[in-house]
Amino acid sequence: MTRDLISSARKIVIKIGSNTLAKSDGSVNMAFMEGLAEQCTALMKAGKQFVLVSSGAQVAGLATLDRWARKKDIHYRQALCAIGQVELMDNWRNAFAKSGTHIGQLLLTGEDFKDDQRTLNIRNTLFTLVDEGVVPIINENDSVSYEEIKIGDNDNLSALTAILWSADLLILLSDIDGVYDKNPKEHPDAQLIEVVPDLHILKSTISIGSANSFGTGGMQTKLEAADKATAYGIPMLLTNGGRPRFLEALADGSQNGTVFLAKD
Ligand code: GLU
Repeated sequence: MTRDLISSARKIVIKIGSNTLAKSDGSVNMAFMEGLAEQCTALMKAGKQFVLVSSGAQVAGLATLDRWARKKDIHYRQALCAIGQVELMDNWRNAFAKSGTHIGQLLLTGEDFKDDQRTLNIRNTLFTLVDEGVVPIINENDSVSYEEIKIGDNDNLSALTAILWSADLLILLSDIDGVYDKNPKEHPDAQLIEVVPDLHILKSTISIGSANSFGTGGMQTKLEAADKATAYGIPMLLTNGGRPRFLEALADGSQNGTVFLAKD
């Protein structure tokens, strides 16, 4: 299933969550970033196109500063993201430079997706970067965003991005293998659900837990992303980003995940 999905998709959006990017001590996982950059570059040579949606501004800010971990005040959190976003992109730039690929940064808020002129500009920028072999890396503009205008989590941001760019596939990388019929941490016999033809049926059969340690989302926002993308005819794959060479493993069928089928 995943093999067919990857081979038939040309335009792929990959969302990388903070839990995938950060090691357990909170530092940024450079080996992961370099591995992903290498695999994207190889697949780009084979004709695929990528847009990345990367979280991690806040985690990178904390790792850089080693202060403010307990500050909940919005100004401190936005300041932390301002610091961390630079570090995050510096890491991505170094990771992709090893493979000889350039990157570009887009920082967006919820408002950008509601304004026709802005969405057109974002679309044109994405198309231009990708056509020129540059990998766009998107995050929410956390330092200017506030409650009323923010998207709030990168699962939904990646779905909006996939729709805006008319992607063929959205891949959400997580620290879990996909959706299980019950919580695998509590139930060793939990089964991975490999294909979800109908999100509403799925929602009524599984229990949705809370957000994980570094990320904003959790299963709830992943299902919202699936809802948005599949309604626009874009399938979504939720899979584990923690395994080495996961993109190649998905392409050769040795790694699976949960595929949310596009609605016709
Ligand atoms: N934009 C946030 C950050 O870069 C992450 C949001 C999310 O994890 O969904 O820290």
